[in-house]
Amino acid sequence: MSVDSVGTWKVGTVTAVRSETPTGRSIEIDVPGWGGNLAGQHLDVRLTAPDGYQAVRSYSIASADATDHLELAVDRLPDGEVSPYLVDDLLPGDQLEVRGPLGGWFVWRPEQTEPVQLIGGGSGIVPLVAIARAHAASGSTAPFRLLYSVRTPEDVFFKDELARLASPTFEITWVYTRAAPADWPTKPGRVSHDILAASVIPAGDNPSVFVCGPTGFVESVADLLVALGHPAASVKTERFGGA
Ligand SMILES: Cc1cc2nc3c(=O)[nH]c(=O)nc-3n(C[C@H](O)[C@H](O)[C@H](O)COP(=O)(O)OP(=O)(O)OC[C@H]3O[C@@H](n4cnc5c(N)ncnc54)[C@H](O)[C@@H]3O)c2cc1C
Repeated sequence: MSVDSVGTWKVGTVTAVRSETPTGRSIEIDVPGWGGNLAGQHLDVRLTAPDGYQAVRSYSIASADATDHLELAVDRLPDGEVSPYLVDDLLPGDQLEVRGPLGGWFVWRPEQTEPVQLIGGGSGIVPLVAIARAHAASGSTAPFRLLYSVRTPEDVFFKDELARLASPTFEITWVYTRAAPADWPTKPGRVSHDILAASVIPAGDNPSVFVCGPTGFVESVADLLVALGHPAASVKTERFGGA
């Protein structure tokens, strides 16, 4: 991964698309010369209209290895400029311009040995899946936990993979904000002080915490974590935008 590669637009070819949720899909791309990325990094996608108008948006990378093969996952915003195209129109064989990998702060490296708490809201799971995949692939014994907040059970990205990754060293807590499964023991609701206190790795264990999702979700969770005693410097955040 050279610094040069960050600023250069590359043309990738879509190799697969897969529906993940009613509004979201994952997209696999081959990008010659990509050369890999760290777990947690993102890239820029550039779309160009026939009249030359261009739109650029950032997307986290769900894959984390040293190949030219990438995986993204995108949630469609109904009034969005770029995400409806990526979710509804892009097909295998189509080309996509990308630039990256980008970001060196919201990353996890296999040599890190401290406990890790991942907290994702909606499509904010994408870079956390990359981190969970890197953790599993490295054989790291660092304790990991994930808290994943979704509106309903249908809105879970990477459902099967998360079920496979779950283990005594990778505990997953689910939070449903609008509708929970029929047999769920608690009512739907937002991530609260009490939920975090009960389910995240305690501040006393000095975890690194990665929080990702819509801006309002990230800011609320980060504030609650600090109130629970997590030093602000140990809470890494990635904001996807919106309220
Ligand atoms: C570092 C980074 C990584 C990201 N990774 C992902 C990812 O992995 N998957 C993914 O689906 N998105 C991701 N995003 C969000 C993505 O970049 C776009 O903002 C999103 O797809 C909307 O783009 P759009 O052109 O469709 O909507 P726009 O035309 O940009 O916006 C349409 C409307 O939606 C609002 N809006 C913009 N973003 C959001 C949001 N996230 N939530 C709610 N409302 C919003 C805008 O204010 C506007 O009113 C990431 C953002 C950042 C900064």
